[in-house]
Amino acid sequence: MVKQISFTSLTHGRLGNHNAGDSSGNTSTLKTYGNRPYISGQSFRHATRTALYHQTEDGVDCNPKHACGDIESCKICDLFGYMNMDLADADEDINPKRYSPLKVSANLGVYDTPQTSDLITQYDVDESENKMAHRQMTENVYFGAVSIDLQAIGTREKENVDNDKEYYEQYHRELNSVISDEQRTERAKELVRSIQHAIKFAGQARHMADFMPDLLLASGSDTYTHRLTNALHVSSDGELNINALRYNLQDVTNMGGEVWIGTSYNPEVITNWDEIVDLTDELDNVQHAGSVSDCYDTVCSTINNAM
Ligand SMILES: [Zn+2]
Repeated sequence: MVKQISFTSLTHGRLGNHNAGDSSGNTSTLKTYGNRPYISGQSFRHATRTALYHQTEDGVDCNPKHACGDIESCKICDLFGYMNMDLADADEDINPKRYSPLKVSANLGVYDTPQTSDLITQYDVDESENKMAHRQMTENVYFGAVSIDLQAIGTREKENVDNDKEYYEQYHRELNSVISDEQRTERAKELVRSIQHAIKFAGQARHMADFMPDLLLASGSDTYTHRLTNALHVSSDGELNINALRYNLQDVTNMGGEVWIGTSYNPEVITNWDEIVDLTDELDNVQHAGSVSDCYDTVCSTINNAM
């Protein structure tokens, strides 16, 4: 049984500032780690949630700030988790908080790239009121990872505490499904499509960029593990480390996982695409799915058969 779907990817992000950091005065700074830009996990989840709004009108009428907590009918609360302490005194079937079945890493640039600053002007009818601002920008290839706990979708966790006992056994955990397996399958696929089509990052009005991955590793596994997130190591001259990929994929398949790889052959991302495809011929339970969209399609058919 497939319990977890994982994605690990390299994504080319064109020139822009897709997740601004703390602004000082008129400058919109880049979020950086060392001298590399990153897009925060929160920003990625926001873009994924917005992609879900674009995909369906059904079950998305909720706001994370005022979460309803009704995971049976609300996909936002179910898939993205929530915390709303006002729900603590309400219906005992509704928990005041929920962990999201969707886990994401920050997307971190893998290359040292230069930064530039874009001058943004807002002209006013009265010329003395013209405004000027700067937006720091850069281009990079971003490493990112995502994991979906399939079994947790539409499942309410109930924690019971027995006050009569003295030790930690006083606690026991119950998982109750509040939707059908068909609904769980549909929600899981909608979530995968939302990840695939996440585009609503910051700065798109002036610096539109594609954020579908260029190299996508996807796995379906009956073991909960984040091992796949360690598979991609790129040198400064653009070579993906094939041995690191080989042994990492072996770890994932040894633990019961199946892996599909989608490739765009974008020359800005890495230089040794052919070696990845050759490796998929060598390894058991690792397949070259074709293009990146083919890889997402394969994951969705796996989910269809999983539950
Ligand atoms: Zn809700």
